[in-house]
Amino acid sequence: MIQQEIELPKPLDQLTATELERKACIGKVMTYTLKSLTDTFVNKGFQWLLPVALSQSTDPLWPDPGASIEKRIEVDIYGKPVRTTASMIIHKLVASSTAYPKLFILSPNIRIEKAERAKTGKHIYEFTQLDFEMCNAESKDVFSLVEDAICILIKDLKREMNSELSQLCRCESIQVPKVPFKIYDRAELEAKYGLDWEAGIAEETTEPVWITNIPREFYDFEDFKTGKWDNYDLFLPQFGEVLSGAKREYEYTKILSKIERDQVKKDNYSLVLKMAKDGRLKPTAGAGIGMERLVGWISGVKHIAECQPFPRVPGSVQEL
Ligand code: ATP
Ligand code: ASP
Ligand code: MG
Repeated sequence: MIQQEIELPKPLDQLTATELERKACIGKVMTYTLKSLTDTFVNKGFQWLLPVALSQSTDPLWPDPGASIEKRIEVDIYGKPVRTTASMIIHKLVASSTAYPKLFILSPNIRIEKAERAKTGKHIYEFTQLDFEMCNAESKDVFSLVEDAICILIKDLKREMNSELSQLCRCESIQVPKVPFKIYDRAELEAKYGLDWEAGIAEETTEPVWITNIPREFYDFEDFKTGKWDNYDLFLPQFGEVLSGAKREYEYTKILSKIERDQVKKDNYSLVLKMAKDGRLKPTAGAGIGMERLVGWISGVKHIAECQPFPRVPGSVQEL
């Protein structure tokens, strides 16, 4: 990821009057974005779940070539170890296989990113995902749902938030995208741009694009015959990744073999393994949208912590 020379976002009490105005403006774009996306999901029949902060099982965030976690937070409560939520992926698999076939959560994620990520402009150590999952669904269902949600959002923003977008000088840059979004295979992008394909495609594309076939955590679907992964990221022009998701693994033997292959601690995933063994884990698909990244792109910020009332810049801790 390219390190830019950028000024790091300051806490609220240190902002000038002009900076406070800009902060308020981005806050309004965040409010409207949350309203539009949650309305779309509710209108499409999704149930809105509240998040959890502490669990025995959370996202291993491994293996992922981009992972940069400095520290994992684990504490004992009631005599048992719990971890702070890195993502609610495991909860989504269980919930969408049982009582909540179509669900979404505004889920706070804690990832203590290495301090060297302070100036990527794309990393904060606490952020919120709009995380969703659908039972008996496939990648194409996620693509059309997300494309629809983004087109509705941008159309509404251009109508209702015109003065905020113009204050942020984003009226021209933010346009309703053409659908369907183009789909690229990560292997092709690697052949074209080399290992820094993420920066390559983000710079070149003028429209949002899907990238598929990205090797990563055990819960994303991998075709053992072809070696291809049925997963995806959404990349925004001049910005980069804003969403990751996948069709999921649900068969016991595959999940077990991937957990063992990745040397992920099996004990942390015993519930999901047991459900899979009993045939109670269903084929689902879903994704998570990083809210600060999406609103950061819309607002044209240099650092996504500008979208947070209380910035969480890697490497620095404030009183609030
Ligand atoms: P990256 O490679 O950019 O560091 P990631 O692929 O490790 O991110 P995921 O595990 O896919 O991140 O997380 C799902 C989504 O959550 C991402 O697509 C992004 O929008 C958001 N996200 C992930 N990490 C961060 C972070 N440190 N700060 C802000 N948003 C994040
Ligand atoms: N939210 C992502 C997903 O649905 C998981 C993650 O946060 O990495 O796949
Ligand atoms: Mg990702």
